[in-house]
Amino acid sequence: MENQETQNSQQTSQQTSLFDELNKDYRFREGFHTCINCGTCTAICPAAEFYCYDPRQIVTIVQTKDDEKIEELLKSDKIWYCGECMSCVTRCPRKNGPGLVIMALRDLSIRLGYFVESEKGRQMLPLTHALTGNILNYGYCVYPRSFKWEDHKESGPVFKWHLEHLEKSMQRLGANFEGEGPGVLRKIPQEALDELKAIFDVTGGTERIKHVEEWSKKKAEEMGMTLEAYEKMAFEYCSNKHFNL
Ligand code: SF4
Ligand code: SF4
Repeated sequence: MENQETQNSQQTSQQTSLFDELNKDYRFREGFHTCINCGTCTAICPAAEFYCYDPRQIVTIVQTKDDEKIEELLKSDKIWYCGECMSCVTRCPRKNGPGLVIMALRDLSIRLGYFVESEKGRQMLPLTHALTGNILNYGYCVYPRSFKWEDHKESGPVFKWHLEHLEKSMQRLGANFEGEGPGVLRKIPQEALDELKAIFDVTGGTERIKHVEEWSKKKAEEMGMTLEAYEKMAFEYCSNKHFNL
């Protein structure tokens, strides 16, 4: 833990303040103005209904411009609860966007390697592999071929059967599964996949994947685990401290 903490603080000390770093992000500049602490964002927020989460509190912390508090936030589970639905943006009387502020916080947390310090943050590794892997390899965010029933036993025996008889099942559902031409779940041409990769490259997505993998590898080493075991733990473990029970 100490090694990671040291590396992180060394990295931040070479940079401008965390608030200034956030301010470089256009989403932050767009979503952060003076907050009057009215709590309207929290009242409308669907994530606050289920998680121990309060977008008003996030904006309040950022507003302090206190690096210590912001660093604590970047290392916490709190920044990973938001569903980025942007309902808060429509209601804030000061035209703030806590959801946009969250996007900038997440980006910075990944860049500086703080995300590996929280349970929800560590889930970025399996999520990145599953979702961006599907997008880059197949052109879909969720793709049946990469869905392992053993990892989702809660989906039950019918879904197990569906996965074991994917072609037949998809045909009956009217999909053009992995076929040429138009239709649901059609094969995405390589040319389009190459374009997707180029979009990831120019928008910073590829770099972000690299950050997630590199920091996760360091954290796994620090925890004395192989990267595979670390990823499995991040995917499977979920404490109940996150929920409004
Ligand atoms: S709705 Fe806007 S002003 Fe009110 S607490 Fe949320 S961010 Fe602050
Ligand atoms: S964008 Fe995030 S913080 Fe805003 S309402 Fe949606 S879940 Fe809540």
